[in-house]
Amino acid sequence: MAIRHPTRRCSGGHDAQFILLPATSFVALLNAGVRLSLTEMNALTELQAWYASNCDGEWEHYYGVEIGTLDNPGWALRINLVGTNLEDHVFSERIVETSDDNWYLCRVVANQFEGTCDPSKLELLLKIFLDWAKSQNADWLKPPPPMTDEELREQEDRQFYESLNDDVPSELCRQMGCAKNRIRNSVMCRDHHFEMIRKYPFIKRCITISQPNKQTFPNE
Ligand SMILES: [Zn+2]
Repeated sequence: MAIRHPTRRCSGGHDAQFILLPATSFVALLNAGVRLSLTEMNALTELQAWYASNCDGEWEHYYGVEIGTLDNPGWALRINLVGTNLEDHVFSERIVETSDDNWYLCRVVANQFEGTCDPSKLELLLKIFLDWAKSQNADWLKPPPPMTDEELREQEDRQFYESLNDDVPSELCRQMGCAKNRIRNSVMCRDHHFEMIRKYPFIKRCITISQPNKQTFPNE
């Protein structure tokens, strides 16, 4: 069943098909004699440059760019921002719909740039992403510096702390004076279990705890 209204795409129910778009596909198009306008080439070329700038032998194994289609019909674009110089940057959601044949939606959810649009606006989605990328960093193709040892340790601490949950109701932490419940598989609460294992308290090292957005991409 085709879902035509963009605001209903979030509920899923359609069969979007995602394909990875390797650089070789682009070259193959050119070799096959496909004529692309200068504007189209610029958006694709710049997206390729952004992608290539983030490939470091590690990033591309976990993250990347996906371009697919929707049965609305339309296009879907998903660009993972984790580990790039756009990670944790704010993007103001854009929703434009003047008719069933003229619409697009762009947003960033859980460090993923997500765009969907009618069949004629894939290039527009790419441009919106590229314009935003250029506005966020003086050198938009310069990836962030590798994490320092301290930052790596903080990241590991945060991930470890976030993995500790599942309070056991009505069973208090064994730490003297602590009023929190213990967590499963420990006699301590989350904070004291962390401190028991790591030998230093969590709060002093990491003040903020990220809460991953549970929203999913329309086709999931
Ligand atoms: Zn405790």
